[in-house]
Amino acid sequence: MAQREWVEKDFYKVLGVSSDASTEEIKRVAKKLLAENHPDRKPGDAAADEKYKEVGEARDVLVDPAKRKEYDETRRLFAGGGFGRRYAPGDGGFGGGFSGYGTDGEVNLGDLFGAAGQTGGANIGDLFGGLFGRGAQQPRPSRPRRGNDLETETELSFLEATKGVAMPLRLTSPAPCTNCHGSGARPGTSPRVCANCNGAGVISRNQGAFGFSEPCTECRGTGSIIDEPCDECHGEGKITRTRTINVRIPPGVEDGQRIRLAGQGEAGLRGAPSGDLYVTVHVRPDKVFGRDGDDLTVSVPVSFHELALGTTLSVPTLEGKVGVRVPKGTSDGRILRVRGRGVPKRNGGHGDLLVTVKVAVPPNLEGEAAEALEAYAKAERASGFDPRAGWSGNV
Ligand SMILES: [Zn+2]
Ligand SMILES: [Zn+2]
Repeated sequence: MAQREWVEKDFYKVLGVSSDASTEEIKRVAKKLLAENHPDRKPGDAAADEKYKEVGEARDVLVDPAKRKEYDETRRLFAGGGFGRRYAPGDGGFGGGFSGYGTDGEVNLGDLFGAAGQTGGANIGDLFGGLFGRGAQQPRPSRPRRGNDLETETELSFLEATKGVAMPLRLTSPAPCTNCHGSGARPGTSPRVCANCNGAGVISRNQGAFGFSEPCTECRGTGSIIDEPCDECHGEGKITRTRTINVRIPPGVEDGQRIRLAGQGEAGLRGAPSGDLYVTVHVRPDKVFGRDGDDLTVSVPVSFHELALGTTLSVPTLEGKVGVRVPKGTSDGRILRVRGRGVPKRNGGHGDLLVTVKVAVPPNLEGEAAEALEAYAKAERASGFDPRAGWSGNV
């Protein structure tokens, strides 16, 4: 009996025993049922005749431990969703080309899997519809192999990173062959469907109740044969070359950030889609500016009197200079915020400019300035100002 019938037949139910019944019990029950329904005993009884055959089938399989094991395994895989779990696409052991068992070609995969899908918990139609729905005979176009993603790095100046930049990037990688436009076939010819695998790229191998697939050796899994390979790429459809692509680095990228450029990666085999290009950005530090997220930071040296008396500073930004008002009595190290003059944000707008004022002390004060400052010191003491008043370091 063909194994595929096992999927539809419940031998335990036929005998009326549990699935863990012992061989002795099965033999005993089968013997009794066979005797009851024997044609000699019930001549002309069609139902009894059918039952007699069914019991015979069931007994033959179940009393043979090896057959019974195989039967149980087959039923377990098809029923209750076990099939879907064990052979879910992409789990590695399943090459994407699962095919029917039986070399005689009489197995109707559509029926078989349709029935299993209804009885089992898993929706096999969903999982394998694309493969089984069309049956085993029809050629299936091989799935194009997408090109690999590529990684590269680039160094940007601080200003390029913050403002964004369009730049050429040199890449050495497989790219679509320009001679054959990626088909791999000499211009004027075209690849033909592989006769060995019917274009599927895989051939099935029988193992127990199931067929497993392995890549077709004739076409190396591509599903097509190139009789006259392209002279440039020797049939690969891609060729390693150095190309320069123009890359648009968006404004506001930070040091170490990875940017994805869709479709700029390695060319796919024989015209399949290209992979993506990932560019890791290194940003050179700037002498003037720093960054705190979207905020642009800058430190401005000032004189003591500028903080004490107040002033307006001319501060550089990404776009020209801006006048920053320093109020009278500003402390050293204070951060002044200028709204909207920072780093461009991804969703529009800008961060802020953060200006830190830092007192520069004259290293060698002499003459008039020194005298004036000494006079000031006297006046400061007289005014009652004590820089360490209220300081927690006082003891
Ligand atoms: Zn070519
Ligand atoms: Zn093939």
